[in-house]
Amino acid sequence: SEARNTGARLVVYDEAFGQRAQKRIDIERELRVAVEQLQFELFLQPKFDGRTQNLTGAEALLRWRHPQRGLIPPLDFIPLLEETGLILPVGRWILEQAIAISARWQRRGHGGLRLAINVSARELRDDGFLRDAGVLLRAAGPEHGVDVEITESLVMDDIQRSIRILHEVRELGCRVAIDDFGTGYSSLNYLSQLPADVLKIDRSFVGRIAESPESLALVTNTIGLAHALGLHVVAEGVEEEEQAKLLRLVRCDEMQGWLFGRPMTVGEFERQFI
Ligand code: C2E
Ligand code: MG
Ligand code: MG
Ligand code: MG
Repeated sequence: SEARNTGARLVVYDEAFGQRAQKRIDIERELRVAVEQLQFELFLQPKFDGRTQNLTGAEALLRWRHPQRGLIPPLDFIPLLEETGLILPVGRWILEQAIAISARWQRRGHGGLRLAINVSARELRDDGFLRDAGVLLRAAGPEHGVDVEITESLVMDDIQRSIRILHEVRELGCRVAIDDFGTGYSSLNYLSQLPADVLKIDRSFVGRIAESPESLALVTNTIGLAHALGLHVVAEGVEEEEQAKLLRLVRCDEMQGWLFGRPMTVGEFERQFI
C-alpha cells in the first residue's frame, strides 16, 4: 500500500542520513587521532622568479598521510578541521614546521628563500592564533623567512578586521599574499587598502591565458594594477610553456605550477634545491 511505500522510503532516507552522519563521526574521530599522532605532512611546491627563473622559495601545502587510505588532499579534510576547531593546533604545527624548515635553509646558505604557509579563516579569526604566531615568529627572529597566504574571499568577508589583522601579521615579519585572486568579489578599491605584499592570480585564469584573449587581458591588467599598487604578482597553476611565455611577457614576477614543479615532500624538495 501507499502508506507502506512511504514508510519504506522514510526508512531508506533515514538510513542514508544515518550513514552520512556516522561517516562524519568516523572521519572526525580519525581526524582527532591524526592530530594526536601527527599524521600530517607539509608538501612543498617551488616558486620561481619570472625573469631570472631562479628559485625564490616554496608554498607549504598540507597533506594527511592516513594509515589506511594513504595521502589525502587538503580540501578533503581542512573544512572539517576548521569546523571542529582542530585547525588551530594543526595550524600552529604548520607554522612551527615552516619556521624550522626555513631556518634550516638559512643555515645551509639559502637565506633569500621564502616559505609561505596558507592560513584559514578560522585561524585568522582566532585571537589565540595571532598571539601564538607572534610568540613563535619573534622567537625565530626577524629574518625567519616565513610568509602567509590568505584567500581573497576570506579577506573580503570582513574587510576592516582583515586590514587590522594583516597589519599585525606583517609586523611579525611575514609578507602577506592574497591567494586565489580573481575568484572573489574584491574591487581594486579594497585591494589598495589592504596591507598586502603579494597577489597570487588564481589558476583558473592562468589556465586559460593561452586560449582566451579575454583571460590574457584580465591577467595583464591585473598585473599592471597590482604593480601600480606596489604589489608583487605570482601566477599559480602554470602548467604549460606557452602560459609561462605569456606571463613573462606581461611581467609576472613569480610563477608556480606543475610546469616548474609539483608539490613534493620536504626531503625531495631539499635534495633538489637546497
Ligand atoms: P592554494 O593555496 O591556492 O594552493 C594551490 C593549489 O593548487 C594546491 O592544491 C596545489 O597542489 C595546486 N596546484 C599547484 N600547481 C598546480 C598546477 O599547475 N595545476 C593544478 N591543476 N594545480 C596546481 P592543494 O595542495 O590540493 O591545496 C588546495 C588548497 O587547500 C590550497 O589552495 C589552500 O587553500 C588549501 N591548503 C593547502 N594547505 C593548507 C594549509 O596548510 N592550511 C590551510 N588553511 N589551507 C591549506
Ligand atoms: Mg596558497
Ligand atoms: Mg592559491
Ligand atoms: Mg588556488
